[in-house]
Amino acid sequence: MPDPLSINLAHLKASETVAISNETKRRKAAGEDVYDLSVGEPDFDTPAPIRQAAIDAIQKGMTRYPPNIGLSELRTAIARTLSLMSGGRAVNPDHMVVSSGSKQSLFNACFTLFGPGQRVLIPGPAWVSYPQIVHLSRAEPILVPGDIEWGLKVSVRDLDSAYSKSVKGLILCSPCNPTGAVYTLAELKAIAEWAHKHQVWIISDEIYRRINYGPGPAASMLDLPDELLERTVLIYGASKAYAMTGWRIGSALAPPHIARAMAALQSHTTTGANHPAQWAAVTAFSDERVDQDVTKMVAAFRRRRDLLVSRFRTEVPGVEFVEPHGAFYFFFRVDGIRDGVTGSTFCEELMQREGVALVPGAAFGDDRWVRMSYAVSDKELDAAVDRIIRVIRTLGAARAA
Ligand code: PMP
Ligand code: GLU
Repeated sequence: MPDPLSINLAHLKASETVAISNETKRRKAAGEDVYDLSVGEPDFDTPAPIRQAAIDAIQKGMTRYPPNIGLSELRTAIARTLSLMSGGRAVNPDHMVVSSGSKQSLFNACFTLFGPGQRVLIPGPAWVSYPQIVHLSRAEPILVPGDIEWGLKVSVRDLDSAYSKSVKGLILCSPCNPTGAVYTLAELKAIAEWAHKHQVWIISDEIYRRINYGPGPAASMLDLPDELLERTVLIYGASKAYAMTGWRIGSALAPPHIARAMAALQSHTTTGANHPAQWAAVTAFSDERVDQDVTKMVAAFRRRRDLLVSRFRTEVPGVEFVEPHGAFYFFFRVDGIRDGVTGSTFCEELMQREGVALVPGAAFGDDRWVRMSYAVSDKELDAAVDRIIRVIRTLGAARAA
């Protein structure tokens, strides 16, 4: 009998998104005809100036330990980017900690703020890692189901019904993974006022902020007055908008005492983010040419979103979905296709019949749905959607028969 694992891992499940993507990559490498629309990873290469900046940093010997909280050049570049997206609002780079991906930033924030006996509200469906990270902090994640009539977003009424004295935090994600829904400024403000009233911390994960299909970037907590930010940690990262998933650069902006505690925590775990990657990210957040590349990538995501929405509306009009206003996910409902169909059975059937990988809604807390990442080439997307629609029709026809 092997020794039992530590109680620290009592709730731990490996990330489903990462596992499905690994399995699909394995099948592809083995020569199978598969399309991977599972993981949320841009199909674009990291823009050339960013890659060059990393090469230059390595050549210049920037290969030793980086400062624990991140290069000041990088924190300044991220702060400037956040400030520009919020109409020039002041953002202090000294209140920011750079980490090995926003996943580590989220972990630092939860581990710093929450602990045993405390609850953290998470609007659901929710990205796979939030409940796990809250569990690792020994706090209890509480999924608050979003409203179907409202793009699966939560309102203050929903939060009220989940509230108790032990609620210490709320993790918001807008634009949202897995639904693509985006909270308006008025909605964010109402939620921030609610949190302020109850002295609840908000961790606002805005990693997809730049991938927004309305005018400009999505609304942010940084668009709200200072007093609503007293208990806010804002997460922003390079992975998605800059096509830098493998570089592992993320950041958290927090009140100074929290930023200091997160830095101290990180000084005992990773020390800090990869040094050359930090220089690459300085270019990502400050080079005008990269900004143009990002604009082009966002335009491509929008085009694919339009294609998907129009194909689903015309070819399978009975299938309900959340109209995506940001990020690069399409969340559609499968339980109405035929009795007994769940996100998990649908994804299994789709992989077996047609070789397309999607993520069952179970991974996000609601198995009536399925998530598709459309961060793949237009050609792949079109071919994969042909296959998905074929399976929806076949299952639907079996019901009709
Ligand atoms: N937040 C959300 C909502 C995400 O989808 C992801 C994707 N991995 C992350 C955070 C973490 O991103 P990363 O660690 O690559 O910065
Ligand atoms: N966030 C992406 C996703 O949801 C990447 C994988 C992960 O880290 O979960 O697919």
